[in-house]
This record gives sequence, C-alpha cells and structure tokens, in this order.
Amino acid sequence: MLRRSPVTGEIIGYWDDKIVKEFYKGNPDDYDFIFFFAAFNVPTVSRPEFPQEHIGAYYRPVSNSINGIGLPIYDISGVYGSSGRLKGFGFMGTLYYISHPLPTKPGSPPEDYSKIDVGGVTWHEIVHQWCCYVGDLFRRGKDNAKLEITDGEGHFYIGLESPTQTPADCCGTQWTSNGDGTFRIVPSTNGQEVRYHPIVLYLMGVLLESDYDKRYNVYDAGIPREESVLSGKAVFYKDVSVGDIITGIGKREDTNLKENTKKPK
Ligand SMILES: [Zn+2]
Repeated sequence: MLRRSPVTGEIIGYWDDKIVKEFYKGNPDDYDFIFFFAAFNVPTVSRPEFPQEHIGAYYRPVSNSINGIGLPIYDISGVYGSSGRLKGFGFMGTLYYISHPLPTKPGSPPEDYSKIDVGGVTWHEIVHQWCCYVGDLFRRGKDNAKLEITDGEGHFYIGLESPTQTPADCCGTQWTSNGDGTFRIVPSTNGQEVRYHPIVLYLMGVLLESDYDKRYNVYDAGIPREESVLSGKAVFYKDVSVGDIITGIGKREDTNLKENTKKPK
C-alpha cells in the first residue's frame, strides 16, 4: 500500500488514513488492531532536511470504550472503514532498515538496527491503545499535580520505577540506589526479558485486583522539558498505586461489556 510513484519517486499512500481505508477494501472488518510495516525506508515528513532520517513506529487509537484510563469514550473507526470493531492501528516504519542500517542523521554512524526487536516495538505500540493518558505530568506538585506519573509525551515519567527486575515496556524504569540517598537508572541490556509495568497492565485490564494497592516509587529526576532530566542522581519523591488512579478518576470499566448482556456460550 505504500509505494513509490514510478514517475516522481514520491511516496504514494502516505498518510495512514489512506492506508487503512485501502486495507478495508480487500479485508473484512474482523480486526481489533492493524499493524503496517513499510517495505522501504520511509523518510520523515516533518524533517525533510534529513532525507536519511526514517520514521519510527507510532500508534493511533481510533476508538475507546473504556472509562477510567484517562480517555473519553469515542469511536472514529468509521473514518477508516471499520464499523466500530477497530480499536487502533500501528504504523511501524520499515522492516528494510533492520537489515540495512542507515544513519538517522547525516554524519552520524549507522545505527545497529539488527538489535531492534520488531515484536517488542509492536508490543510497545499496542500499549498506546490504553496508555498513558492517565495521571499528571511530573511537576513536583506545581499546578496541583497529584498523580505525577506522565512525561507529557504519551509515556510514563522516567522516574516511575518498574517493580520487576527487567526493563518495563512501554513505561516504567529500573532504578537502583547509589548508596548515598540518591538513585540511578539501571541500563538495560539487549536480550533482556521485557515486562509491562503493573499500572500499564491495569490500564490494559489484566492486573489482578489484589495488586491494586501495591505502591510504586516515583523518583524525582527533574521536570520534563523544564529541567535537565537526571538519570544518574535522582531522589525518592513519592509512591503511587493503581488505587490512586481509581480514587482520582474512578475504576476502569469497559462500557461495551456493560452493555453486552449476552452470556458466553
Ligand atoms: Zn510509545
């Protein structure tokens, strides 16, 4: 669906609404999620000055039936050719770069894309159906910020600690003590098992209720976009729980399930 014009070399089918509509011309409305991979390097539109820079992955939710995750109830799936089944779609850039590393910026060394985990990127993107729309931007209490777990850019704040001994995808960071009252980020290594943060699991609807009161540390690593974020010397700020989210905006509830009175066969 994405291809280059044989005449102008221009990319046809770009942007995503056209791609999704095209998909439904030949496929039934049977999908909750659709992920597209390009077969060639897709340059960024926003930075034409870097022709070798390619787009990364992104996810676009098109309907939401769930209260309590920070999103309104809405459904614009019709715009894309689905009659309410489609929850969202991911555009994953290109598989090409995995075997053909290119520098993202002129002059910079080629990135080693062989280390990119395509499945992992897909699992990261799918989380954006439910995350991270809840919580306040980390502002150290400014502007009445309370549940300060977001970075203001669609992910959780870097200071939100992952309780597992593995990197958290998509959101949550491993921290360890420096031994002097400060904390630093544990660098992740390739091939490590990746897990979702329990708050992400809650937003997805798969966290056990017995875990709702567990508390997770938030370290003060600086206010995003206002201060330089410190990954090597943060201090403990507060702790948060799923219960805090429920107190703030109510319990997660799928309005579709509420309306669906049919018993499973
Ligand atoms: Zn993301």
